[in-house]
Amino acid sequence: MAAPKVAVVGAGVIGLSTALCIAETCPSCSVTVLSDQFSPNTTSDVAAGMLIPHTYPGTPIHVQKQWFKETFTYLFAISNSGEASEAGIHLVSGWQVFKNTPKEELPFWSDIVLGFRPMSKAELQKFPQHQFGQAFTTLKCDCPPYLLWLEKRLKATGVQMHTRKVADLWELHSEYNVVVNCTGIGAHQLVGDEKLFPIRGQVLKVHAPWVKNFIRDGDGLTYIYPGIHRITLGGTREKESWSLSPDPGTTKDIFDRCCSLEPSLRGAQDIEVKVGLRPSRWCVRLQREVLSQGGVKLPVVHNYGHGSGGFSVHRGTAKEAARLVGECIAALQGSSSRAKL
Ligand code: FAD
Repeated sequence: MAAPKVAVVGAGVIGLSTALCIAETCPSCSVTVLSDQFSPNTTSDVAAGMLIPHTYPGTPIHVQKQWFKETFTYLFAISNSGEASEAGIHLVSGWQVFKNTPKEELPFWSDIVLGFRPMSKAELQKFPQHQFGQAFTTLKCDCPPYLLWLEKRLKATGVQMHTRKVADLWELHSEYNVVVNCTGIGAHQLVGDEKLFPIRGQVLKVHAPWVKNFIRDGDGLTYIYPGIHRITLGGTREKESWSLSPDPGTTKDIFDRCCSLEPSLRGAQDIEVKVGLRPSRWCVRLQREVLSQGGVKLPVVHNYGHGSGGFSVHRGTAKEAARLVGECIAALQGSSSRAKL
């Protein structure tokens, strides 16, 4: 079989990192990324990019932990290299605070982030409305720079990138041997996945360079995540809302909630409002499927449905998707050598 041709559909953090893992694990493959939008116009560009995992109820915890660990290890190495500033990856320390002590005081990821510990009484004095908290250091991706860095790595390894809207995965069967579906919320229409739904998120990106620590309310709704140049203030979680228009009332509400956690934000400037649709699902769809029409087959690997936690697990799920692509190629090579006998 000649060099296997692999198409990755989607150019958010999941599509780009999956294409990179395939190019790294299968150097003989010819990899192409096809997407109707690239950075800065994807959901991934809107995200805060903090490495604090979201929990997928339909995926075993040990699998989620492995995905998070692989992602943390990968980004930690970048943060500790000369690439850190261009890739927009940096360490950030801060606090997750709770109005009531949570049932689970030690989340499954507590031994992967750095220096996880309960907050001291003195630290909690900063948050008079909260009675419990956890302090730790984690990583943050500044999302548009990280996506551009991934694109640059892909181009350097010879991966092609084309703007194209795919109406049906089958339309790719005559051009590619394997197709990888990383279309995020787009999979709702592309493959008719009724289990996939949007959770709308509105965030503010502001200039407040004096705020250095992250602060996250344990309810997950209000957060302050400092990036290299801008701070992300959040947020909202609106299930089944497809609206991409910012809501001015929500902007004020987010700003007020964040100021009650960090009063110095009253002096923030240059407020930009962004909206994105988290591609949410009971579990990430990370599996092989074979499409077939009239005796012709097209192996597909799905990798979508990362909801609120795509950045936190992207490298782990990309590695698994690349492994599944390897299985598809091995199966194709097996059937082509049997056909020659
Ligand atoms: P996307 O970024 O949406 O990419 C999908 C790609 O597929 C796009 O390029 C699109 O153009 C393309 N596409 C879709 N349909 C087609 C088609 N038919 N043909 C061709 N191309 C197609 N996660 C974290 O881990 N940490 C955070 O701090 C965090 N904060 C967030 C804050 C907000 C406000 C939001 C909205 C999300 C946040 N997330 C966070 C979640 C994270 O953004 C997502 O999990 C992640 O971006 C999903 O990536 P994706 O590549 O699957 O989707």
